[in-house]
Amino acid sequence: MSETAQTRPLASRAIQRATTPERATTPDTVSPHHAQLRAALRGQDFATQMAILSPIQRKANGESAGHGGPGVDGTIVPAGPPTVPTAEDFRAFEATLDPRIVRAVHQQGATLTVATLPTAVTQRAAIWFGAETATVLAAYLDYCRGDVATTEAARGDATDDEDGVTRTEGSTPLGVPAGDGSELALLDESPSGTVGYASWLLRARDAGFVRFKYHGSQVESLADGKRVPNLEADKNDVDILQVEVDLVKARIRKWLEHGGDKNPIAFGSMIRARGNPKKADVHSNGGAIDINDLSQTTTVEPVIELLLALDGNTDRSYGVGLPFQGEFFDPADDIARSKKKAEAEAGGASQISLNDKVQNGSTYAFDATASKRGAAWIWTTTKRDANTAYTRLKSAKLKSTFADLRTKGFSFDIFPDNDDHMHLDRR
Ligand SMILES: [Zn+2]
Repeated sequence: MSETAQTRPLASRAIQRATTPERATTPDTVSPHHAQLRAALRGQDFATQMAILSPIQRKANGESAGHGGPGVDGTIVPAGPPTVPTAEDFRAFEATLDPRIVRAVHQQGATLTVATLPTAVTQRAAIWFGAETATVLAAYLDYCRGDVATTEAARGDATDDEDGVTRTEGSTPLGVPAGDGSELALLDESPSGTVGYASWLLRARDAGFVRFKYHGSQVESLADGKRVPNLEADKNDVDILQVEVDLVKARIRKWLEHGGDKNPIAFGSMIRARGNPKKADVHSNGGAIDINDLSQTTTVEPVIELLLALDGNTDRSYGVGLPFQGEFFDPADDIARSKKKAEAEAGGASQISLNDKVQNGSTYAFDATASKRGAAWIWTTTKRDANTAYTRLKSAKLKSTFADLRTKGFSFDIFPDNDDHMHLDRR
């Protein structure tokens, strides 16, 4: 997904963040505010509809209408959806920017245009406010030029702080992450090349969004432009690093939206020696990363979040390894375990058959039959089609996530893998 894909309705952002920090960001879903507002308006006569909409319109005009107004039956109708952000929205927005940039914009407000706003502001606005960026930026410039300050001064509750910007005391909205600017700088950067990606990831680690469980020294070497042991001799670039950057950027965006724990991504094994000495593999050629600490015995959600964070502009073809745990693959479907179990339980039978089993490391599903010769079982194993192993995943939500991503042009080779991690590689 692109940097601008995750958008949220403008209304009462700060309140939403303060009260529902875990709310999922679903770009295609209508805001609960829209839905509640539509429900409140439905079937009412014109005068009643106007009474409901009036406080919302005042808010859209930049007046202090609070967060909503009384509905017809005494319930509170939520404010919004304003088409232009309010002063409160802009204050929340500015709280996420480097204060030096905010100061510069306010000082140069008279001469700046939308086209000459710093990219740190325009890129941030695209992420923060969503699609109506040109309108928002024009309104933001007006805000910077003091229109809102005048309104606030007229209310008598404004003060000039040391940077000459008029603000309302105590107006910093609750729930806005108290970033020091480094997170936003990371998001605004578009690193390139192995050295660039590795350097960026180290800074993301320092900002609290990444943990390297096993290969931190590999990333440090790569950032210094050095080769690392076990990387294939014909490889200079570590291609998976770009994907790691994408995943971490999505995590930073989530933190900016919701605040709370930064929940760093735990990158595990990256470059390691070939499993098969005669054949290069994705972990030896720099194309793969193992991601740990995903609570896979109890939930599929962290894995789904990572899958949805894949950026199709980087790559759309991935290998994904998932464990025989939780709602991923069922240990009872593991062909190796199934064969042992069937033999142990065969009793006096002379034939055994297994259907639709899966195997660690393979995208195939398998059928197998065995017949007894003396004391030994002789197995014949037959491959079903490639890329059918994933049909044995237990979680319907995980399967539909893969299906949705496939309709968006992604392709996945999915296979059972060792426990307690998700394997991800470019192919
Ligand atoms: Zn792996």
